[in-house]
Amino acid sequence: MFNNLSEKLDKALHTLKGHGKITEVNVAETLKEVRRALLDADVNFKIAKEFTKSVKEKALGQDVLTTLNPGQLMVKLVKDELTELMGGDTVGINLGGSPTVILMSGLQGSGKTTFSGKLANYLKTKKTKQVLLVGCDVYRPAAINQLRVVGEQIGVEVYAEEGNQNPVEISQNAIKHAKANGKNVVIIDTAGRLAVDEEMMTEIANIHKAVNPQETLFVVDSMTGQDAVNTAKAFNDILNFDGVVLTKLDGDTRGGAALSIKSVVDKPIKFIGTGEKMDAIDVFHPDRMADRILG
Ligand code: GDP
Repeated sequence: MFNNLSEKLDKALHTLKGHGKITEVNVAETLKEVRRALLDADVNFKIAKEFTKSVKEKALGQDVLTTLNPGQLMVKLVKDELTELMGGDTVGINLGGSPTVILMSGLQGSGKTTFSGKLANYLKTKKTKQVLLVGCDVYRPAAINQLRVVGEQIGVEVYAEEGNQNPVEISQNAIKHAKANGKNVVIIDTAGRLAVDEEMMTEIANIHKAVNPQETLFVVDSMTGQDAVNTAKAFNDILNFDGVVLTKLDGDTRGGAALSIKSVVDKPIKFIGTGEKMDAIDVFHPDRMADRILG
């Protein structure tokens, strides 16, 4: 797939051979292809435009390396710039605090509960942490049951209070429970709505204020494309979250949401979800995502 763009750029740059330097005309032509690749990957139009503009400035006057064909050189420039824009390196989560409190936010169906389980499993197996999962969806008993199933699957305790309608109280009680029972990480799975609404935002803002988490993660379905950006902005305005989790990257999405979200909220993408199973979790690698976006 990666070669595909490289080939197209080579074609657009065919006039370049023998010139030794990339000219403005060559660059304009090739960047059209790059912009198309970005739009195909569902990158926001404005961001794609800004991106190609900045690559253009970098590309002009570059010497064509003898070891690379011009298409490959352009792909490298574009890829490096994309990687840089998505944060350059992987960013871990803050495991300070005693216990570490991690708050999950996001819309219903984004993959919060599944990811809460995956993260619990990851911290338990990779970082030998004692984790407590907390069910805070007081509106949907099915959501708590789903979390219990997940907890059983990975051997992690789930804290919930049937009958208590106050998620702030449940979260605070859960942290007390964790302290009393030797747990050093508390992952709070919150209720999600199908769209951003004021009630939901107030509720999660109240939980956030009450538990003062070390890490607030925003979970988003990578298949939702442009909507993902608006949702990310709404949650970030309220929570000033620490990082993003991009789920469902095992689907056929090219993952342009990664670039769009990073550009709009300027928060690192920390993890990706790559399946429904509990081990389908990976830390986010900006360079791998750049390859995927370029197709
Ligand atoms: P929540 O409402 O935000 O808690 O979302 P859920 O965790 O219930 O996930 C919604 C659906 O997406 C479920 O059917 C999950 O199995 C599925 N899901 C979650 N993460 C992934 C993922 O990374 N890949 C795939 N293919 N499915 C996922």
